[in-house]
Amino acid sequence: MGVEKFGVIGSGQMGNGIAQVAAASGLNVLMSDIQQDFCDKGMATIAKNLDRMVSKGKLDEGQKEAILGRIETTTDLGDMAGVDFVVEAAVEREDLKFKIFEDLDKICPPHVILSTNTSSIPIGRIAARTSRPEKIIGMHFMNPVPVMKLVEVIKGIATSQETFDLTWELCEKFNKTPAEANDFPGFIANRILMPMINEAIFCIYQSVGKVEDIDTVMKLGMNHPMGPLALADLIGLDTCLAIMETLYDGFKDSKYRPCPLLRKYVEVGWLGRKTGKGFYDYK
Ligand code: NAD
Repeated sequence: MGVEKFGVIGSGQMGNGIAQVAAASGLNVLMSDIQQDFCDKGMATIAKNLDRMVSKGKLDEGQKEAILGRIETTTDLGDMAGVDFVVEAAVEREDLKFKIFEDLDKICPPHVILSTNTSSIPIGRIAARTSRPEKIIGMHFMNPVPVMKLVEVIKGIATSQETFDLTWELCEKFNKTPAEANDFPGFIANRILMPMINEAIFCIYQSVGKVEDIDTVMKLGMNHPMGPLALADLIGLDTCLAIMETLYDGFKDSKYRPCPLLRKYVEVGWLGRKTGKGFYDYK
């Protein structure tokens, strides 16, 4: 299908996971970030994940080395000129994603599909920043990427069927199960998940329950594998807040207002696992 070199923008928790599954499927991968130490951290996470697979007997040392050998890193977005397909997984900020897509549109040859792993920013709004709206699509992986089977594939109003089909095929090549969503705030996954997480945070805010009790109710009562607050910490509270803001802005419906406690945690830098403190303590 013509994709040999795969570009990933951002080497954070989603970017390095996407780079890992792409390399494991046999593609050569170029992963970028704004600083080399962020790229190095992303590579170290991939190596650690692969080591775990080796110790479980799911991979041998040779396969691990081959996967790592297929991933290169860069801090120069201009190097994306040499890739056939891009997935952007930088932080969930609209202004930042607009700039990245404007730059990629100039850097990448016209046939290259530019996808985004955004959790909630409208695909059409990103597409409008480029000269190739038919080649802009949402490719929304779940966290942790190497483990979770789903990829939500989001069609913008101008996304072509060809772009959609190629992205779908790529998900299958990555051994993932794609699901199709249309371009409305939060798409399917976060339209349903994030209001539940936000409501769990309101339950702490209004002293309905304590963190552990709220998660226990949802785990044992609803058979969820993880409580909503532990999941929020895994996702990152900044990302959760950004998604709630997008839902609230997009629908202008007060049911999507972010809980003030969520905003307070983000303001002080309690972002969940990635900073060592969120609703739980990870230090
Ligand atoms: P993260 O904070 O772990 O990583 C983001 C990375 O992007 C950082 O390393 C940062 O340095 C880098 N970055 C910032 N500006 C950049 C630029 N101009 N060029 C290249 N890299 C840049 O965040 P994350 O959790 O990996 O989220 C990334 C994206 O994936 C967001 O859009 C988020 O909404 C989406 N997403 C997150 C989850 C989740 O559970 N965390 C799930 C699905 C989708």
